[in-house]
Amino acid sequence: MYNPVTPAIVESLRQIAGQANVLFDAGAIDRYSHDETVGLYHSPEVVVKATSSQQVSDLFRLAQRECIPVTPRGAGYGLSGGAVPVHGGIVLTTEKMNRILEIDRQNLMITAQPGVITGELHRAVEAVGLFYPPDPASLDSCTIGGNVASGAGGPRAVKYGTTRDYVCGLEVVLPSGEILRIGGKLVKNATGYNLVQLMTGSEGTLAVVTEITLRLVPLPAVQVDLLVPFDDFQAAADTVSDLIAHRVLPTCMEFMEHDSIVAAERLLQKTVPYDDAAAHLLFQLDGNLPQAVDAEMETVADVCLRHGARDALVAKDRPTRDRLWEARRKIMDAINNESPVNHKEDVVVPRATIHLLLKGMRELAQRYGVRIISFGHAGDGNVHVNVLRDSLPDERWQAVVPVVTQEIFRLALSLGGTLTGEHGIGVTRRSYLPLALDATQIALMRQIRDVFDPNHILNPGKIFP
Ligand SMILES: Cc1cc2nc3c(=O)[nH]c(=O)nc-3n(C[C@H](O)[C@H](O)[C@H](O)COP(=O)(O)OP(=O)(O)OC[C@H]3O[C@@H](n4cnc5c(N)ncnc54)[C@H](O)[C@@H]3O)c2cc1C
Repeated sequence: MYNPVTPAIVESLRQIAGQANVLFDAGAIDRYSHDETVGLYHSPEVVVKATSSQQVSDLFRLAQRECIPVTPRGAGYGLSGGAVPVHGGIVLTTEKMNRILEIDRQNLMITAQPGVITGELHRAVEAVGLFYPPDPASLDSCTIGGNVASGAGGPRAVKYGTTRDYVCGLEVVLPSGEILRIGGKLVKNATGYNLVQLMTGSEGTLAVVTEITLRLVPLPAVQVDLLVPFDDFQAAADTVSDLIAHRVLPTCMEFMEHDSIVAAERLLQKTVPYDDAAAHLLFQLDGNLPQAVDAEMETVADVCLRHGARDALVAKDRPTRDRLWEARRKIMDAINNESPVNHKEDVVVPRATIHLLLKGMRELAQRYGVRIISFGHAGDGNVHVNVLRDSLPDERWQAVVPVVTQEIFRLALSLGGTLTGEHGIGVTRRSYLPLALDATQIALMRQIRDVFDPNHILNPGKIFP
């Protein structure tokens, strides 16, 4: 279907992006053959580190002419295989387009190139008293372009929403090579279809994002964290639903079950308070008035204690708060450390039903004789479900994973949820798409993709079954 990348094409790419920005030898391109999805590899034929929108445009014109697939890539920290070039061809990385172009304090907006690391963007705006809330746990590694393309979320979504709620303007390069500016420094915009939102979360299948304008909010003056251990797993899960029913919505409400805490301790070589607890809830609250934040904190602690929590540990200063979050941020790595072969899903359900989802995961683990560790953003209904191979024989593992995956999805769907809240469909979930979307929706989405990319040269093999 696609043509191979010939030495003549590599030469043309060098003329577009410069000799040093085109990688061709196997050793150099190896790290672009995977993202953070366990066990998914496909080597590109060539890697191009673009430094400008014009280069991206020229690259697309060449790729169209030669019928070569192009896979956009930020930092390769995705968990769906979205940046894996499953059809070979060109990997187009934005790692060198990594400048913050403007922090506009009058309009509360930041404009940045896609390769800026999300954590660096956070620090830059916080230095001037502003706040960009979306905070994927991978924020010190992933790029803001990758966040826009995958519609990334994070713990603070409970109060502040996800990347989608902050993207106001984009510069994109269409697969035709045309450079387009859409949206702008506008909080409101009712002019025609909302192409900014269409691009956000499109997993690099409609265009390459080359510049991003994001809305900012004032940095809250007070932030407090609360770590709450429970002896009973289900009591912790029920507390989340109860808090939501009581209209208590902190900034973050994270759930960590016992095995995830122990795995994080093993990785970090540090202990977490009450590490014998069946589950921990981790809360963050913020605001501008210390009394108001304290009052909300009291309510959260009260509800937790009424549900049988053993304690409610409060952290107000930055070093203590960072310590509380350290284990949470490392859980994904810790699970890989526990069992390098594992399978990750991030289903999402209406948040009041989160306790039923967590209960269902335990039942599944028992029924199929596999270890399942659940943790994540319980406050917004999004749980990371990890199935661990541990010492299961390969044959049993290969047989059980698709069955358990189907069961996880079916339970989430039966609760009114869907397949993924953050990580996207990419390669790994595409065969399951028809479980969640009917044929008409999938056909409409395919038609939208075809309008942008009729020749399917941009990130082929993603999203659609
Ligand atoms: C330990 C860990 C924790 C994580 N925690 C979270 C979390 O809390 N919340 C969350 O949402 N995700 C999380 N993730 C997943 C991941 O970090 C996010 O999906 C992130 O947005 C990926 O960014 P990236 O720069 O690595 O993108 P990549 O993996 O490089 O790419 C992701 C997708 O975006 C496309 N893409 C990248 N750049 C562009 C561009 N400029 N234009 C068009 N398309 C582009 C790619 O083709 C691909 O489809 C986590 C991952 C890990 C490993």
